[in-house]
Amino acid sequence: MNTRVGTIGNAAPLVADAAPMIDPFGRAVTYLRVSVTDRCDFRCTYCMAENMTFLPKKDLLTLEELDRLCSAFIAKGVRKIRLTGGEPLVRKNIMHLVRQLGRRIGSGLDELTVTTNGSQLARHAEELYDCGVRRINVSLDTLDPEKFRRITRWGDFAKVIDGIDAAQKAGLKIKLNAVALKDFNEVEMPDMLRFAHGRGMDLTVIETMPMGEIEEDRTDQYLPLSKLRTDLERQFTFTDIDYQTGGPARYVKVAETGGRLGFITPLTHNFCESCNRVRLTCTGTLYMCLGQNDAADLRAALRGTEDNGLLHAAIDEAITRKPKGHDFIIDRTHKRPAVARHMSVTGG
Ligand code: SAM
Ligand code: SF4
Repeated sequence: MNTRVGTIGNAAPLVADAAPMIDPFGRAVTYLRVSVTDRCDFRCTYCMAENMTFLPKKDLLTLEELDRLCSAFIAKGVRKIRLTGGEPLVRKNIMHLVRQLGRRIGSGLDELTVTTNGSQLARHAEELYDCGVRRINVSLDTLDPEKFRRITRWGDFAKVIDGIDAAQKAGLKIKLNAVALKDFNEVEMPDMLRFAHGRGMDLTVIETMPMGEIEEDRTDQYLPLSKLRTDLERQFTFTDIDYQTGGPARYVKVAETGGRLGFITPLTHNFCESCNRVRLTCTGTLYMCLGQNDAADLRAALRGTEDNGLLHAAIDEAITRKPKGHDFIIDRTHKRPAVARHMSVTGG
C-alpha cells in the first residue's frame, strides 16, 4: 500500500491508501508521460500533416487539472513524469505546471523531464532548471539547416542550437533524439554522433512508427536500425551496455567518442516486456500503450467530483486494460498507419 498523502490547490487531499498500479502482467506503472498540448510550431514530415486540425482549446484540460491528474498518478506510485506534446513549450503558461510538478520532486516524484523540439528552449532553459528539471530530450534529425527546414517544414535550426546552448549553460543534461529516416539523415549519422558526444550529450536514434496520416508514405521513410547500426560499426566500435534511463532504448558505448548511443526499435524489436509507462493526453485521455488504440477517459472522473477516490478507481480500471504489447505494423496494402492518432497526441 502506498500511504503518501498530499494536497493540490483547493482539491481534496490525495487519498492516503492509493494502491500502486500493477498491470495484469505484473508490471508496475511508475512512469507517466503527459502530452500537454497537441499543437506544435513545427510540422515534421514523419509526425504531422502540414494542415493539421488541432483540438479546440475548450477541449483541453486546464493546467490545474493536469496538475491534479499528475498528482493522482504520483499518489499511485508514479516516480517519473515527462512533459511532451505536440511541443510542450508552446502551451501558454506551461512553466506554471512545470513549477507545480517540480515541487513534488523528492516527495513522491523522483524526476521531472521534458521532451522538446528546442525552438523555445533558449527562453525557458534557466527556469526549467530552477523548477527542478535536470535532464531534457531535444529532438534533432539533422545538422544541416536547409535539411532541418525541409524535415520540420517550419523550424529554424539556429534557434534550436541556441536552445541547446542555453540549456547546457543552465546546467540541463541533454539527450538528443533523432528519427532515422532513409535517404534523409542516414549518411549524416556519424556526424550527428560526433556532434552529440563532442558536446557531452547522449544520442538516441528512433525508428519511424506508423502513427497518424501524413502526406508521405512511411514505408519510404523507414530505415531499420539494424542496418544503421551495421553501417555505423564500419566507423565506430560499439560495446553493448546495461545503461537504463527507464525508457525503451538499448544503449551502446562508442569507443571512439566515449559517449552513449541508444537505439529505439519499436518495429524490429519488441520492447514491451519491461514497459512501466502510461500516457496521458491534454484532454485527460489515458493511453495504456503507445501502439494500441484502447484508451480510458479520465476527464469525467476528474471533473465529476473533487474526491480523488473516483479518479483513482478510474485509473485502476484503466490499468487492468494495459495490453501485453503493441501492435505496430505498417499496412502496406492500404498504406494506412497502424495507429490512427498522430504521435503528437501522446507525445511518443
Ligand atoms: N515536439 C517535441 C519533440 O519533437 O521533441 C515532443 C513531441 S514529439 C511527438 C516526441 C518525439 O517523437 C520526437 O523525438 C519525434 O521525433 C518523435 N516522433 C514523432 N513522430 C514520430 C513517428 N511517427 N515515429 C517515430 N518517432 C516520432
Ligand atoms: Fe512537432 Fe515534435 Fe511532431 Fe516535430 S515531432 S511536428 S516538433 S510534435
